Amino acid sequence: MKSVETFSELRKARNELAEPVGFVPTMGYLHEGHLSLVRQAGQECASVVVSIFVNPTQFAPEEDLESYPRDIDRDTSLLEEEGADLVWIPEDEEIYPEDYQSWVLVEEVTKPLEGAERPTHFKGVTTVVAKLFNAVQPQKAYFGQKDAQQAVVIKQMVRDLNYPLDIVVCPIVREPDGLAMSSRNKYLNKEERKAALSLSEGLFQAKKAFQQGVRDADQLRGIVANRVNEEPLAELQYVSCANPETLKEQAGEIEKGLLSMAVFVGETRLIDNVLLK
Ligand code: AMP
Repeated sequence: MKSVETFSELRKARNELAEPVGFVPTMGYLHEGHLSLVRQAGQECASVVVSIFVNPTQFAPEEDLESYPRDIDRDTSLLEEEGADLVWIPEDEEIYPEDYQSWVLVEEVTKPLEGAERPTHFKGVTTVVAKLFNAVQPQKAYFGQKDAQQAVVIKQMVRDLNYPLDIVVCPIVREPDGLAMSSRNKYLNKEERKAALSLSEGLFQAKKAFQQGVRDADQLRGIVANRVNEEPLAELQYVSCANPETLKEQAGEIEKGLLSMAVFVGETRLIDNVLLK
């Protein structure tokens, strides 16, 4: 596996790869969720490129950019084991040189959910992903359903800006007890880790109710909220039952839905979701 830092090194190494190229953008501190994307890319593509970049522009000033967990050596050896061909680990200045001033904005699907709570977040995500796509020029790019809105936003950007690539969305990888894997789980102490189970448990309870015939959006949101509210250490930020494609909030009887949520467990903000269909 080759490891590069600059755009010019990346372009040179990329041009030597066998096509089609699969690309997995990450912020590092890799876990099984990330590795599942790398594995799927390996199954579907002749070469796999992974980027590791903690993108400063998708963090608001009060968020956890400084403390975001990092372990490049461990990440690199995990990727080597998975058989990735190229890892790109750019410096901040490489992506955002002094006097940087260009941005990619996706308007509608960035407004609700995460966009409502983190108003500058998706501007950073779409801009960095566009820059990464321009440089890597993959035929396929792999994203996790864990960040469900991000996947919708990136698909929209790819359609709108005519990127010649396919977006592949991979299922959420969970711990054995149900907690969705996340680099931020590292922040949780023992009690918080227990309280964090309320996210997946609430979602699974609602999904079970849906499968048993409960179709009312309010009722389904209520099941999720009630489970989280049982935990003194957990504070629900939002629970949504949206249309999975448009992300518009639904009311009344639903046929399908993206049930998603954000919760503060102590200081740590966690997100999770399930698809109802
Ligand atoms: P991140 O490093 O958090 O930016 O995540 C990089 C990619 O991995 C994104 O496409 C995420 O949606 C995906 N991802 C993160 N956690 C998981 C998970 N538990 N299961 C599946 N994909 C994940």
